[in-house]
Amino acid sequence: MIIFDLDNTLFNTSLLKEDLREVFIKHGLTDEEFWSTLRESYNIDPETKGCYSIEKHFCVFKNFNEDKKNKIEQETKKIIYQRGRGYLYDDVVPALNKLKKQKEKLILISKGIDSFQKLKLDVINLRDFFNKIYITPGDKIDILKNVTNGQPIFDINDHAEESHLVTKNFPNISCILIRRNGQERPKINIPIASNLDEVFQYIRSFQSN
Ligand SMILES: [Mg+2]
Repeated sequence: MIIFDLDNTLFNTSLLKEDLREVFIKHGLTDEEFWSTLRESYNIDPETKGCYSIEKHFCVFKNFNEDKKNKIEQETKKIIYQRGRGYLYDDVVPALNKLKKQKEKLILISKGIDSFQKLKLDVINLRDFFNKIYITPGDKIDILKNVTNGQPIFDINDHAEESHLVTKNFPNISCILIRRNGQERPKINIPIASNLDEVFQYIRSFQSN
């Protein structure tokens, strides 16, 4: 069984942020205002700390009327649908096809706001590859407790703290950290791969040990 994270692991979230930036700037924000309000929006609601949605982003603005919000939301959705599978890293579809042929059980666990993550899943059209998809605004530990049942499990994620938490709570899960596009590599006692090919090399080496 292989457990995948979505954002920055399969889905190029930086590209999505650039698309959002384009729409917000068209509606009068400066570049700096866009990035500072985006960062602020992650933490405005304690129950969804660390998660983004367009609705949360709007909560940062006191002077946006409903008409402007609607326009931004419509234009954002249009741009996201147009990009579609263009948000996926190039190695994702070939890798998932290969794994599906090998009858590997695949699970997707994504931290985020349900409606926004579902929008991403709608446009990338990957649902059929996964035996099960979970979305949670909190940490992933409770979900992992339900999906683990003694078989060898690999967890692929770009988020070092999440991987560390998984390793601590589930000694039977082997974590592999993925750091795309030359992202900084944290000093961590977990193998680090820069793409899915390297991830599968690690998985093979675990399996042959
Ligand atoms: Mg991620």
